[in-house]
Amino acid sequence: MLVVMKAQATPEQIQAVCEYIEHLGFRAHPLPGAQRTAIGITGNQGEFDRGNLEELSGVAEVIRVSKAYKLASRDVKEEDTIIQFPQHGSCPEASIGGRDLAIVAGPCSIETRDQAFEIAEYVAAAGAQFFRGGAYKPRTSPYAFQGLGIEALRIMAEIRERYGLRIVTEAIDNETLELVAEWADVIQIGARNMQNFSLLKRAGKLRKPVLLKRGLSATLEEFLMSAEYIMSEGNYQVILCERGVRTFADHTRNTLDLSIIPAVQRLSHLPILVDPSHGTGKRDSVLPMARAAVATGCDGILVEVHNHPEKALSDGPQSIYPDQFVRMMDELEQIAPVVSRRLPRVPVPATAD
Ligand code: PEP
Ligand code: MN
Repeated sequence: MLVVMKAQATPEQIQAVCEYIEHLGFRAHPLPGAQRTAIGITGNQGEFDRGNLEELSGVAEVIRVSKAYKLASRDVKEEDTIIQFPQHGSCPEASIGGRDLAIVAGPCSIETRDQAFEIAEYVAAAGAQFFRGGAYKPRTSPYAFQGLGIEALRIMAEIRERYGLRIVTEAIDNETLELVAEWADVIQIGARNMQNFSLLKRAGKLRKPVLLKRGLSATLEEFLMSAEYIMSEGNYQVILCERGVRTFADHTRNTLDLSIIPAVQRLSHLPILVDPSHGTGKRDSVLPMARAAVATGCDGILVEVHNHPEKALSDGPQSIYPDQFVRMMDELEQIAPVVSRRLPRVPVPATAD
């Protein structure tokens, strides 16, 4: 159910409607829009009896939302969601979902302080706003490198301070979620955890942006339902990320499904990034697919960059070299205006010493 408030509804009227909904045992989600506020109603306690909701002052209409996902749907919020990152410490203002493309770059895993700093220096110089790096790695083999853990989180916090790059890193379970939420600017939930509903619900209780990667075999509806899990707990800052799905094709690690971009944009207001690294698994395919992703209209790119990919502890074959990253930025900067976008290239803050 969705309550559409009148354009001139006051904050007190909105508050009163929310209280009425909660009093009925449901959850109210006020969603401010450019023209008017809408209030999403969720709850699993059976059919919603609209009672005299329509008579409350400030209410324009009460609509039934027929889609399985509600808060993630464009039916509930017409305008695109833009996740804002205000200027903080050495990090300049940034956004995901607006006119500016968001670029998230860095190694698959944080391996050493030197490795992470060297890569951060390159990606910051090329103008990225976000630095990625795994501290906790979901690996297919239990014998493979599992990540440096808290040490990696500390290294990334230093990188944020030094280069003004915001940190995106993955939480793999309920324990690591708490730590990641404390240290990171954006919490990544990986493909393998897209349907870890208890993790999604916990991430929904936080008030930090969550980057949700599409599961290896997830349909669009399943993907949006996972976003809904996070939003249903009150965290509306969800960023979707297409990272390829399993198909019979074996020329790439996964099949990067760029056709999901317009489909998501039609059905949902949430921003969507594309990860051409996991999406192809092949270094040579990363740049062409990044260009295609921007041309298709995504809100940004998440890409793995490594200074010595041949020695990387994870995902070396799909990690691009720093000079390829510079080329990618140059090319995306040229493609962006064709699709009414802009690639902001953020200058690196000067060192104090
Ligand atoms: C990653 O970003 O390094 C990662 C593990 O991604 P995914 O969950 O998409 O496999
Ligand atoms: Mn990886």
